[in-house]
Amino acid sequence: MTRIRFAPSPTGFLHVGGLRTALYCELFARKNNGRLILRIEDTDRTRLVDGGVENIIRTLEWAGIKPDEGPYVDDKGQLKQRGDYGPYIQSERLDIYKKYIDQLLENGKAYRCYCTPERLEEMRDHQKSEGTQTMYDRRCRNLDYEICKKLEDEGRPFVVRLAMPTEGVTVWDDLIRGHIEISNDQIDDQVLLKSDGFPTYHLAVVVDDHLMGITHVIRGEEWCPSTPKHVVLYEAFGWEQPKFAHLPLLLNRDRSKLSKRQGDVAVEDYRDKGYLSEALVNFVALLGWNPNGDREIYDRQELVDSFDLSKINRGGAVFDLEKLNWMNGEYIKKLSDEELVDLVKPFFEKVGLGTDQEIIAKAALLERSRAKTLSEIPAALLFIFVDPEVDPDLLPWKKSTPEIAKDRLVGLREYILGLDSKIFDSQELIEMELLGFITKMGWTNAETLWPMRVALTGLSVSPGPFEVAWVLGQKVTIQRLESAIVKL
Ligand code: GLU
Repeated sequence: MTRIRFAPSPTGFLHVGGLRTALYCELFARKNNGRLILRIEDTDRTRLVDGGVENIIRTLEWAGIKPDEGPYVDDKGQLKQRGDYGPYIQSERLDIYKKYIDQLLENGKAYRCYCTPERLEEMRDHQKSEGTQTMYDRRCRNLDYEICKKLEDEGRPFVVRLAMPTEGVTVWDDLIRGHIEISNDQIDDQVLLKSDGFPTYHLAVVVDDHLMGITHVIRGEEWCPSTPKHVVLYEAFGWEQPKFAHLPLLLNRDRSKLSKRQGDVAVEDYRDKGYLSEALVNFVALLGWNPNGDREIYDRQELVDSFDLSKINRGGAVFDLEKLNWMNGEYIKKLSDEELVDLVKPFFEKVGLGTDQEIIAKAALLERSRAKTLSEIPAALLFIFVDPEVDPDLLPWKKSTPEIAKDRLVGLREYILGLDSKIFDSQELIEMELLGFITKMGWTNAETLWPMRVALTGLSVSPGPFEVAWVLGQKVTIQRLESAIVKL
């Protein structure tokens, strides 16, 4: 059975690169009728953030990624775990790691290192000044048994290091990057157990991937330099190694590594700005892979059906915000009216415009074809909620005069005053009535509808006058026409 894990560290937020990894893990698991496991890697106690685990779980849920095993938050908001291979949080597995460390020590595959931080720093400074590679000089690797015993009796702090083979090469066949060979003399004697008794990532990841029956490790390219250490550990334990697949880096448009300085990197920032989860997932899915040439919009099932690790590019993938904006706009257009209104309401509330549900529902529909994000919708519709400050110079159409503008607005006001209020139930009826009236009067549309639209919105660019009048309703429409008339 194919078993895939997504193994984030709960450092506060889920990076968009992490979302892509999680998504590819899920696509691969579903494609192969396998299982997706969520494992929390929290052995680096210095990087922990309160609520980090819950945040990851909620973000994955928002993105529609559903692990079959691992931690989850139940209906009461409690953190629980499910699955037969738990616990799935590494800090709850310390005894397990201890057992495997002892095994490595007994077999001579690892050793205790008593070097102090000061000594290690001195050693590194010296290596730097000599221009040689900075790595542990293995001073403790062949310590005499008696000396070890003495240091232990003194209670001296120690770490446990992996005894890397000093010759030969370590190899693996990466499902994306192909055959990789690293010369062992380039690889440090990695710390496996820290002096605080916590394992390092390297030990914990190998022990857990093995015990949890992981068949494929799909993770970002930044973990590639760690993989030879893992391969050596698998060999030291005599375990079969999983297949590895390292995903290409995410890049800014200038091809530097995707960084906070050039834009948002946290999935929650995108959610808070009003990107739809389906759009972000579709976009992220195409960072480094496209199932079908130029096509851009895929639903989840299509992504699952066409997912193929061997088709993932090796080169870095550019995170193109413009493309994401376009895609999000396409997804906003596809929402039903009800879905749009439900999704956009919190964004109105956030900017303090959340009171009149009926207006919000109507207003949201005005901007749906233009909006790239949900948060843009209330921002673009402020004029609906707050009477606009109308610039009198903007009222006449460009080939017309203030007198004509005034005349048309007065005429419209009178006409609208006399309309049956039912007309305002429908944009189409308003349009039909007003166009009929303009024709009857022998006016031009531009000279009449431009000042009407500006009177209602105060803007040179906005949704059209009929739709705005529909949202505002008959009474406010008349009030705004009156306010504009007195300015002319
Ligand atoms: N805990 C690592 C991270 O934070 C996971 C690396 C791996 O997948 O092996 O991304």
